[in-house]
Amino acid sequence: MRITIVGAGYAGSTLATELATTYDTDLDVCLVGTPGNFGGGTAYVDARGEHLLNARAGQLGATAGKPAGFARWLNLSEHARDAFLPRAAYGEYLLDRLHEAETTSTNLTTLEHEVIEIDRLPGRGYRVHLDDGSRFESDHVVLAVGALPPQRLPGVGPRLSRDPRYVPSPWQAGELERIDRDARLLVVGTGLTMIDIVATLNRRGHRGPIIALSRHGLLPQAHTDVAADPVELPPRLLRTLHDSDLRALTAAVRRLARRADDWRVVVDAMRPELQDFWRGMSPTQRARFLRHARPYWESHRHRMAPKVAAEIDDTRASGRLQIVAGRLLRAGIIDDGIYALIRRRGNIEAERHEFDVLVRATGLETDITRTTHPLVQHLLSAGTIVPDALGLGIHVSRDSEALDADGQPVEGLYCIGALARGECWEMTAINEMRSAIYRLARRLRAPPPDRISLPLAPRTLGAVR
Ligand SMILES: Cc1cc2nc3c(=O)[nH]c(=O)nc-3n(C[C@H](O)[C@H](O)[C@H](O)COP(=O)(O)OP(=O)(O)OC[C@H]3O[C@@H](n4cnc5c(N)ncnc54)[C@H](O)[C@@H]3O)c2cc1C
Repeated sequence: MRITIVGAGYAGSTLATELATTYDTDLDVCLVGTPGNFGGGTAYVDARGEHLLNARAGQLGATAGKPAGFARWLNLSEHARDAFLPRAAYGEYLLDRLHEAETTSTNLTTLEHEVIEIDRLPGRGYRVHLDDGSRFESDHVVLAVGALPPQRLPGVGPRLSRDPRYVPSPWQAGELERIDRDARLLVVGTGLTMIDIVATLNRRGHRGPIIALSRHGLLPQAHTDVAADPVELPPRLLRTLHDSDLRALTAAVRRLARRADDWRVVVDAMRPELQDFWRGMSPTQRARFLRHARPYWESHRHRMAPKVAAEIDDTRASGRLQIVAGRLLRAGIIDDGIYALIRRRGNIEAERHEFDVLVRATGLETDITRTTHPLVQHLLSAGTIVPDALGLGIHVSRDSEALDADGQPVEGLYCIGALARGECWEMTAINEMRSAIYRLARRLRAPPPDRISLPLAPRTLGAVR
């Protein structure tokens, strides 16, 4: 059985490693990823030295059931496993695992290409088209393409969106380096991306003022230096989780967090339950969560390393970083800079400010209906994939299988990672993704009896470099 995995970031490379090494298998696994991005994608390959992981090293093993894998790979002492290490080290770990899988297994092929189209073949299977014009057939395809390219920020005019004063992808090499040290910056977004940006600007000795803007002006909370002991959720809170009652859950969490030594352990204890909690909510309740609770949940759930938090505190205390709750109404080019109309939260009047650079830091883009990603555009226009009900990504089943417009499985097409978050919400961090990868690997290895594939024609190797 031939499986093609599109995207060689964390999800793609881990699934490929899992399929190629864990099982005694006759699977033929082909991992296709954009050059230079194997093993890490944006999060780890593009990370600079100052960008730290937002979880402790001892919890970040790539494989489900082996949380200490990363710490072991680094030979970390027990004590050092609590540390928040540079993200680039994690990229090296993922790449090393992939190389080892390539060396030891005979059924894994890696291709440095972009997949631009995937056609569904009559009957079953897919034809995968690469950016060099070559193509091959595959029984199964797994989309592990990560988040989509950034869309233009609402309020940013077309002229500014094409101007170097607008930075849509701050992780892209050279983007922050070209900003003048005295530039006045507006950063839209106050989450972990903004934190990364400030860390890099600090490293470069940035002197100009930075305003970071988001609807609620909430920063990620900080981790503690030493992890508190885990707690077990009391039956009452578990009941509210199983009932998918958001209001009752919020009240129960507040009560428990007041009693616990550290609220963080309550949030962490809820994580394994959250995917089912999300699935149990009606579409209206999910939409309500996104509208009202999401910023609070995200600021408590996606936390920053203590060292990073201290640096952000210092930058704010120095007056160089100001956090503003409000909305960007409009931004455009003026002679020597950018103007921005901002309405602060609770105000009716808008304020006009001037900046030199506007940076987009609004987090992961996953709306497939507005994307410029060629493959996703192609699959959407062919009707092979459809958006989920809330426009969070691709409509998929609990087993990561793509669903068509009638809610029927698109046989043999799977999606894993940020684009699948409409199905379970928590699908962007290592912790949740590794369980999903494990389940998908098991499913691909042993498909339901009615889905066992018949052999395809041998792969035309000449088509693949
Ligand atoms: C800056 C940043 C920091 C993060 N830090 C953490 C952290 O500390 N801890 C944590 O748990 N999570 C973190 N995350 C969450 C992160 O999303 C996951 O940990 C993980 O990296 C996601 O992996 P992925 O494989 O789904 O996506 P990616 O790592 O983005 O990989 C997707 C890959 O697919 C490739 N691709 C896309 N389209 C195609 C195509 N058509 N053909 C071929 N290849 C294609 C892309 O180029 C990319 O290399 C972070 C995320 C970001 C963005």
